Amino acid sequence: MKFCTLSSCSYANSVAIQSRDTCILIDCGLRKRDINPFLNEIGLATGDIDAVLVTHCHTDHIYGLKHLLKQRNVPVYSTADVLKQVSQCWAFDEYPGFQVLDPYMEYKIGSLSLTPFNLSHDVATVGYTVSGDSERMGFMTDTGFFPEKCRDLFNALDYLYIESNHDVEMYKNSAKPWHVKKRNLGPTGHLSNQQCGQALQSLDLSSCKLVMLGHLSEDDNRPSLALQNARQRLAPDISLTSAPSRVPGPWSDTLIKK
Ligand SMILES: [Zn+2]
Ligand SMILES: [Zn+2]
Repeated sequence: MKFCTLSSCSYANSVAIQSRDTCILIDCGLRKRDINPFLNEIGLATGDIDAVLVTHCHTDHIYGLKHLLKQRNVPVYSTADVLKQVSQCWAFDEYPGFQVLDPYMEYKIGSLSLTPFNLSHDVATVGYTVSGDSERMGFMTDTGFFPEKCRDLFNALDYLYIESNHDVEMYKNSAKPWHVKKRNLGPTGHLSNQQCGQALQSLDLSSCKLVMLGHLSEDDNRPSLALQNARQRLAPDISLTSAPSRVPGPWSDTLIKK
């Protein structure tokens, strides 16, 4: 399996995951006008998408979902709580393609298997593990801390896409209002570089080929800082990269050290 970010920042998030015969998106926070060109840029078209997994109802994760579904009627998967909030926020009126998942249960979409798990954010939010072609990927963004309950699911990963949202010092010194800082630095906000590093250090990543840092804040982080922090916590043979913010990145298979 391989994966590729279409956009990864506080503004828009969407990641494509592809196995030999199945292609899914996790989230679709893209602007309407970016959906087709961004997919084309990574060699895909809307007709290739078999399903969309949703993590939560925030704009940066589902803004483009309605526009995508107008072009292609694909099933949209998430937990009942997330789908309910997506419906309420975005007036989906019980979209018939909603598929309800239970956290910590495994489901199949074509040749991919997926398991959702709960995260700690200010709305109902899930992460996923996705398996295919005998490989497994962990996917975690938008959480105030690394939940212990998903630790077992993150054992023996081949790929990890994890949030490294902000540098704590840059964030504290930013011009954002106090209540926004309190939310984003708190237990229902986002993983800082430092928290991401602690999570990397605490996981058994001995079989991991690639760690990709995602959802970096454009105002309160720098890729060099996030990467430097993560590199210190990872074995040298694990490839490490950060996703570009508002444009598609390269496919994961081109990023792994041979
Ligand atoms: Zn987000
Ligand atoms: Zn969010």
